[in-house]
Amino acid sequence: MTTTFTTTQERTPVLVDLQLCDRCGVRARVRVVLAGAGELYLCGHHAGEFRDTLERAGATLEGVAL
Ligand SMILES: [Zn+2]
Repeated sequence: MTTTFTTTQERTPVLVDLQLCDRCGVRARVRVVLAGAGELYLCGHHAGEFRDTLERAGATLEGVAL
């Protein structure tokens, strides 16, 4: 008996992979997790622009360091 598993280990384990910035549509660098309100994605530029506001609102920013 042969069991073949398809792995996805060839893919780079990047936290934010092929997501686009919700503001401008370029590739996202940061994932923003809004408690109880889902999540959104931002590029580095917009993550920096909205970081203070988002953190004050209780959001968690994950991904590439700003
Ligand atoms: Zn953007």
